[in-house]
Amino acid sequence: MKVAGGRSVLEGIAIGPLRWFQPQRVQIPERSARTPEEELERLEQARRRAQAQLGGLYEKARKEAGADSAAIFQIHQMMLDDEDLLAAVRDPIRSRRVSAEYAVQAAGEHFAATLAAMEDAYMQARADDVRDVARRVVLLLAGEEERPVLREPVLLLADDLSPSETVQLDKSKLLGFVTRRGSVNSHTAILARTMGVPALMGVEVDPAWDGHMAALDGYSQRLYVDPTPELLSSLEARRRADREQAALLQALREEPSVTLDGTEIQVCANISGAAGLDLALQNGAQGIGLFRSEFLFLDRDRYPTEEEQFAAYRRAAEAMAGKPVVIRTLDIGADKRADYLGLEPEENPALGFRAIRVCLTRRELFKTQLRAILRASAYGSVSVMFPMIISLEEVREARKLLEECRRELLARGCVPGRVEVGIMVETPAAVLLADELAREVDFFSIGTNDLTQYTLAIDRQNPRLDPFYDPHHPAVLRMIQMTVEAGHRHGCWVGICGELGADLTLTETFLRMGVDELSVAPAAILPLRKKIRELDLGRT
Ligand code: PEP
Ligand code: MG
Repeated sequence: MKVAGGRSVLEGIAIGPLRWFQPQRVQIPERSARTPEEELERLEQARRRAQAQLGGLYEKARKEAGADSAAIFQIHQMMLDDEDLLAAVRDPIRSRRVSAEYAVQAAGEHFAATLAAMEDAYMQARADDVRDVARRVVLLLAGEEERPVLREPVLLLADDLSPSETVQLDKSKLLGFVTRRGSVNSHTAILARTMGVPALMGVEVDPAWDGHMAALDGYSQRLYVDPTPELLSSLEARRRADREQAALLQALREEPSVTLDGTEIQVCANISGAAGLDLALQNGAQGIGLFRSEFLFLDRDRYPTEEEQFAAYRRAAEAMAGKPVVIRTLDIGADKRADYLGLEPEENPALGFRAIRVCLTRRELFKTQLRAILRASAYGSVSVMFPMIISLEEVREARKLLEECRRELLARGCVPGRVEVGIMVETPAAVLLADELAREVDFFSIGTNDLTQYTLAIDRQNPRLDPFYDPHHPAVLRMIQMTVEAGHRHGCWVGICGELGADLTLTETFLRMGVDELSVAPAAILPLRKKIRELDLGRT
């Protein structure tokens, strides 16, 4: 038996024969016997076919792994339209009469090397994408096709796998894959995760393993080639247990989140933009309990317009088809910054100019967002939630602006739907004022991440403080209880959208407190629902 270590992309066990995948080698002539015009025409035809292939791959990936994972193929399509890249291919065909294959390969390498040398990790990661696109066009020009054909269920072994190779794999025959290259944050890794295929990267793979039996253990991050019978049977047992668990959880997708004695709670999803919707739905979310809208503002160099925001919120409202979607207004500042916002550096960013403080200062920015949310409310069940509230005045001011926006929209002939208004309870001030605040709003959502940080005076960004950050601290739990009681006294529903909501050791405590909703990462929904359905609070 040989044992090789790597980095795990998805926890899970896969057992089967190894199959070595070697990309095709194509002969690339430097010079062409054709005229430059003929060569440019061949290039154009190959480019169009590559566009069509990528469109097909996008659709396949979207169905199998969701729109987020599929987006990489749209990026590849954009690369094929990139004017700089096209000029770098066409120029040497015209001036030096090189073959189209040669020109594509050389330009692709040049662009990939430039991207790989950049500081920005995102741009570096695009280098492999440029190579992937260039290779696709070269293969089309050479009349070759590249696709690892799997005839039986195998563990694929490769030096590297591109996203397009990965998505073309027949999922019914792909047990898992092991590669030497690739980062666990790459698109290939993301595809593996969303396709639910265990994979290891960074393994010193050996082509001589081709045909050998192997077991991939995503938990211990190891590949066992020719495993001993004892090891094999213990891994098989683990795999059986995993399958039973996953099947059981999927069976809960449409089930209510209700305890054995009939206490019901809503289990919703936290998403960072419309991108998480597919996952929320796949995992049986009963709504979106926290849409972190600030992610629409990050990773870009200008404000998203009202139209852009409206499109994202409307997509969420429509996708959830009547289930609630709670959109948290911009919680920017502290660790979430974008240069174009021009936020000054601060001594104590966590105690600084963030969230509702920014919005009430920059009213046009805030009103643009509120109008977009109100417009989206016509397409589903949309609520708005204000973050980092510490006073009644803030809530009243935010509501006043919301009403102003509603009137502006009505004047434009646009009729918003009914929008519930809530606040995040994530400061000790909000907990202590919860009775008064509850009279102003329809719901509370407890942000335990910040509530813990502010209650314990522990910066959540500082890893040195991890040993002191105790989310089960009695002060935090008491704050949650006080909030639930105050909310209920005044007819507000109360949810938890911080990480603590997914802590299964506290599920019973939260139910006993009377929490109405738990909003967690999509992957945490079904394990949480299972836990709830196993509890008996003895209330019958
Ligand atoms: C929280 O503070 O618990 C919360 C959900 O908000 P964020 O983590 O986005 O600050
Ligand atoms: Mg928070």
